[in-house]
Amino acid sequence: NVSVVVFTSDLRLHDHPPLRAALDGSRPVVPVFVRDPAVDRAGFAAPNRLAFLADCLRDLDTGLRERGGRLVVRHGDTVEEVCKVAAEADADEVHLAAEAGAFAHRREQRLRRALETDGRRLHVHDAVTTAVPPGAVTPASSDHFAVFTPYFRRWSQQPLRDTLAAPREVRVPDGIGSEELPSRNGAAGLSPGLAAGGENEARRRAAAWLRSGAESYEDRHDDLAGDATSRLSPHLHFGTLSPVELVHRARRTEGPGAEAFVRQLAWRDFHRQVLAARQDAARSDYRTRHDRWRSGPSAEADTEAWGEGRTGYPIVDAAMRQLLHEGWMHNRGRLLAASFLTKTLYVDWRVGARHFLDWLVDGDVANNQLNWQWMAGTGTDTRPNRVLNPLAQAKRYDPDGAYVRRWVPELAGVPGAAVHEPWKLSGAQRTALSYPDPVVDLPEGLARFKQARGLG
Ligand code: FAD
Repeated sequence: NVSVVVFTSDLRLHDHPPLRAALDGSRPVVPVFVRDPAVDRAGFAAPNRLAFLADCLRDLDTGLRERGGRLVVRHGDTVEEVCKVAAEADADEVHLAAEAGAFAHRREQRLRRALETDGRRLHVHDAVTTAVPPGAVTPASSDHFAVFTPYFRRWSQQPLRDTLAAPREVRVPDGIGSEELPSRNGAAGLSPGLAAGGENEARRRAAAWLRSGAESYEDRHDDLAGDATSRLSPHLHFGTLSPVELVHRARRTEGPGAEAFVRQLAWRDFHRQVLAARQDAARSDYRTRHDRWRSGPSAEADTEAWGEGRTGYPIVDAAMRQLLHEGWMHNRGRLLAASFLTKTLYVDWRVGARHFLDWLVDGDVANNQLNWQWMAGTGTDTRPNRVLNPLAQAKRYDPDGAYVRRWVPELAGVPGAAVHEPWKLSGAQRTALSYPDPVVDLPEGLARFKQARGLG
């Protein structure tokens, strides 16, 4: 008897319940990854993510080969390709990790039907791509939690399954065709500072983080220049790291830093349970505020300046340029950049979310769309009209201006906190900088937003 394991957002060998179940002792298995054009069309195919994916697939293949197996890569419709592989291997069962989101949900249903028609079974496994699966905890009166704090209370009490070791041996039947593994070499449009992918890199980074980074997380996670967060988000997105394992390991690391870190991991699950229950929230307002977002040439020009990091507000521009350079942005930068676009410029959150998804290596429908909605006030934020003032944010989270000087070279020569307000420099100094004037006056932006939301 042969099993097929379909890898999607779980590109690892450690703590992989579908692989463990498929092996069931020592059954032959076919580990398969399908490059599906429908996933690309749904917005996945950003150069940074494709490059990171290529690293992950190569690393997974290497890990499988070290255990006597290999990865089978196919290109096409996931359901058709998995059915073909299952037929070629004469497999009786297929294993897959559960995922939130409309696309994954439809894919799972189609796959189940198609396999059943051929007399094969689909097993869908929970707690592979999240620590606590969507729907595992619900409030009394609804199918999902709409507020994080009560969700987190229940999430924290939820028992987690034990972590599984990576298999020692994987036997793959002969004669199953595979395409060549993709490579990031020569890929166009990548961020120059893009991180490396793959399970080995994920495990190295996680171990280093838990050993020496997590401790100061509570105090330093908002320090823009300090860059003191885990940077594990791309690994969690591609599943080169197991969220269950990470929570177990973080809980064994004592101290307030590790606790604060676990709380952030719960945010990831929180957004997934919202999206699983409200799949429309990937595109539509989770809660409508009847916004009539700006449109037309002036809004487009402002959006372009924002996307390119030339709004004239150094802290916003630094964050946006970090995104272009690394395919990643610090969470505080994401918050203030999203507040600036949706509230100060009053541009639709979908426009900003799209730009982020074009660049973020961790770009993820649940986390991205729902964090954007949170900041736009159309999501789960209980204070939907909060506006982050970029100057106050800059002074608080980049007090010495080091983050701005790192990412905005035009301002690299301006010392200290003065870098946050280049318009205050003397005329000659200012002209020499070749840095743009602010695209909007902050009080005017605020007044426009308040009027639009009917806030008197
Ligand atoms: P750490 O601070 O080390 O946190 C550890 C992990 O917790 C992260 O890797 C992530 O998996 C999770 N996490 C932390 N904060 C959040 C959060 N607010 N929501 C959900 N999970 C969280 N995160 C993504 O993974 N993909 C996205 O596409 C994404 N888009 C975002 C868009 C906006 C507008 C905002 C405000 C936030 C977005 N985030 C997104 C959440 C957060 O900014 C990133 O997860 C975090 O910056 C990643 O860096 P890190 O791994 O060093 O995080």
